[in-house]
Amino acid sequence: MAEKIKYSRVLLKVSGEALMGDKAYGIDVAMTNKVANEVKKAHDGGLQVCLVIGGGNIFRGLSAAASGIERSTADYMGMLATVMNALAMQSALERIGVTTRVMSAIPMTTVCEPYIRRRAVRHLEKGRVVIFAAGTGNPYFTTDTAAALRAAEMDCDALLKGTQVDGVYDSDPKENPDAKRYDTLTHMDVIAKELKVMDSSAVTLMKENNIPIIVFSIHKPDSFENVMKGEGICTIIRT
Ligand code: UDP
Repeated sequence: MAEKIKYSRVLLKVSGEALMGDKAYGIDVAMTNKVANEVKKAHDGGLQVCLVIGGGNIFRGLSAAASGIERSTADYMGMLATVMNALAMQSALERIGVTTRVMSAIPMTTVCEPYIRRRAVRHLEKGRVVIFAAGTGNPYFTTDTAAALRAAEMDCDALLKGTQVDGVYDSDPKENPDAKRYDTLTHMDVIAKELKVMDSSAVTLMKENNIPIIVFSIHKPDSFENVMKGEGICTIIRT
């Protein structure tokens, strides 16, 4: 069981894969709507929510670089993929009445707002869900690191990672039925044990800024809302 902590502002990182549903590639609208519903439920409870969506369902820089595209160019393509996902999520949220703003680390002002920290904070204060797109705006990074960076900049109480499973396990629970889920870990445990939760740069940034990381299943109904109430199943990583 998660501990009862009062959260007022959090950042939720969802990988591109989570929007894919059963498809092998791209955006599954029904799945995107499901994730949007989970965000709405937590937001309706008065929580300020920011989102970072990955791009791996559309384009991954590293694999494209392996097949011959120059690495930085491939990474910029990956960042553009996250903008597509952010727009899909914006559309899904607005359809159910949640006001949103997409802010991109790579300015593309005909599509969305450029990322300006103080404007982002203002949007959150006004109760808008802010979706941060285009990662950090720099190649050689990932959206996990972007999520950690924005969580620190927005002074979030926690960084949530919505995954396919309900926490961090000592081995892959899909392959090992005896895999053990951790209730709590320290940031240092994750780094030292090389647990596959987030990139080590993201975990280090959260450690240095004393921001907990909460790993939970984005696919379990009500899990985001429940974890925020201290009731859901998750792993809490904190110093
Ligand atoms: N990317 C990048 N810089 C960033 C964030 C993302 O270059 O700050 C690129 C990188 O090529 C990455 C792709 O965008 O492979 C998609 O992001 P990610 O793999 O983190 O998405 P996820 O695995 O969360 O779906």
